[in-house]
Amino acid sequence: MRQKPKEEGGHAKKRHTAHMVRGVCIHCNKEGDGKPKLTQGYPIKDDYVIGIIRWLKRKTRTEQKNRLVVCEKHADEHEKKRGGFERSLIIYGGIGIFLLVILLLLNLSFGSLIAGLLLLLFLVVTAHIKYVPKAEGI
Ligand SMILES: [Zn+2]
Repeated sequence: MRQKPKEEGGHAKKRHTAHMVRGVCIHCNKEGDGKPKLTQGYPIKDDYVIGIIRWLKRKTRTEQKNRLVVCEKHADEHEKKRGGFERSLIIYGGIGIFLLVILLLLNLSFGSLIAGLLLLLFLVVTAHIKYVPKAEGI
């Protein structure tokens, strides 16, 4: 409601609309009254994070049967956010591997390896603060 839909410039990307299915847009859901509205959109791909969330929801019995999608209106925004997440994952992972190598160069030991791997794991997990799922066709 707050945001006016932006006019698309002439460079609007062609997307694979063939993938589109009916579901609840993960971005629309956070706006308005918060009630899930069914819309046509690009399906969210299942990955390990979605798997964990689904498992947690099953355990807490808050699972929704709706299919998650990204609607056409949010496709550009989603692409940008997903790109940002992928970039931070690469950067954090790169820093982690760099630190692991430094630790091993300073002191080649099993302790350094474990410390370095824990650091790498911590950084990769931290990168998931910006987690955005992949959507098919975007
Ligand atoms: Zn949307």
